[in-house]
Amino acid sequence: MSIYPCLSQAELPVLGDPSRQDVTPSQEYQLGKNYYQTLKSSHLLLEDLMVNEYIQSLGQKLVSNSEQPNLQATFFIVNSSTINAFALPGAFIGVNSGLLLAAKNERELAGVLAHEISHVTQRHIARSMSDSSSSSATMFAALLAALLVGSQSPDAAAAIFYGGTAAAMQSQINFTRHNEYEADRIGVSVLRKANINPVGMADFFETLLSKAETDNALSQIEFLRTHPLSSTRVAEARHRLKPGNQKLRNDSLDFQLSRIRILVQSTQNKPVLLQRLQQDDNKPENLPSLYGQSLLLLDAEKTTEAIKILHSLIQKQQHPWFKLALARAYRLNKQYIKSNNILESLSSLYPNYLPVTLAYAESLNRQKKYSKAIQLLKRQIQNRADASAYKKLAQTYYANGQIASALEATSYQYEIDGYITYAAQQIENALKQSGLKASTRQRLESRKDYLTALFQKHNN
Ligand SMILES: [Zn+2]
Repeated sequence: MSIYPCLSQAELPVLGDPSRQDVTPSQEYQLGKNYYQTLKSSHLLLEDLMVNEYIQSLGQKLVSNSEQPNLQATFFIVNSSTINAFALPGAFIGVNSGLLLAAKNERELAGVLAHEISHVTQRHIARSMSDSSSSSATMFAALLAALLVGSQSPDAAAAIFYGGTAAAMQSQINFTRHNEYEADRIGVSVLRKANINPVGMADFFETLLSKAETDNALSQIEFLRTHPLSSTRVAEARHRLKPGNQKLRNDSLDFQLSRIRILVQSTQNKPVLLQRLQQDDNKPENLPSLYGQSLLLLDAEKTTEAIKILHSLIQKQQHPWFKLALARAYRLNKQYIKSNNILESLSSLYPNYLPVTLAYAESLNRQKKYSKAIQLLKRQIQNRADASAYKKLAQTYYANGQIASALEATSYQYEIDGYITYAAQQIENALKQSGLKASTRQRLESRKDYLTALFQKHNN
């Protein structure tokens, strides 16, 4: 299905003359959100629930230890092999999958995130948007163009996204050197408060600098173009570190498992990667490698081998991702009861953990246990409104013959993804269904009014 956010020129935030006007926080948020939604609908983002949950929770942990602990920030991963991370207006913080692969441990990734978060909390982005002499003006012009074209064609949006980044690269500096030093300094204190070893920031910057020198691959390291980095800055970042950091967190299994998931998904040659993992890592304690092998075996439908590895992994560590993979293996093996039992126990162990909820709801739907699935999904949504949970809820209602409810759920899905006109259309269709209860009709009518008002607000 190819529908895109209904962004008309009129719906774009009016930034005015950036040389004379300050950008308001609400304009910033709207601009960042529109851009994020365009990336999402153009399929430029990594669609991996588990890795997305991981990056969001790591990012949120850092934000809650920043100068703006209540900031609503959205963290996401761009499917791109180049090494980059960036903060959009409105606290939308993106990390390229290439950066996750280049980072050796969680403290390095956290170092980059803390740096980006600090650009947000210190209002560097807003200031550079308001400064017409800044090259950011060029970048934002490109962003706005991407938004306009993105509503018509995802390929064009992709082209402009990368084109826009290229323009930003040519201009070399988006943030001033002072901004960079400040983001380093504030970032280190955020990391320390979050109990993450801040040495990771300097480590990662150093890796980038040496990569740029030795590989002669500057084009692969966009981060260096948008964040001017020098060996002096790295040395200063190191110098600022106080002793005693060794006791702080250096790595996490979640990071290493996320990294291997990205590697498995992005590799061009899965059999070769499987061979490499099997040869490299014979040690039974190498959980990420074994997990990666099990995923590759599942992709190749070698379920028996995968199940064997997953059982040994679960004996060592009761990680929910190992159990989710085992449930998937049993399902592929048509052992539906075993698969469902794993998901049922996971769901009570991790209530409202989206990857588990969606997998369990799917399993319940397969058994036609629709009301249980609906109950589960509603609980998830109450905890956090999420487009994919609404999508699954709509599928469940359809399967159960509750068409008006399905249309209503889809309208929420579209609203979250920024398709306001499509959301309103779903409600119109729901109202046309026969046999609606008076209370349902009333609820749908008021939702229709709400969406109409929302659309008008965006068009004014
Ligand atoms: Zn920076």
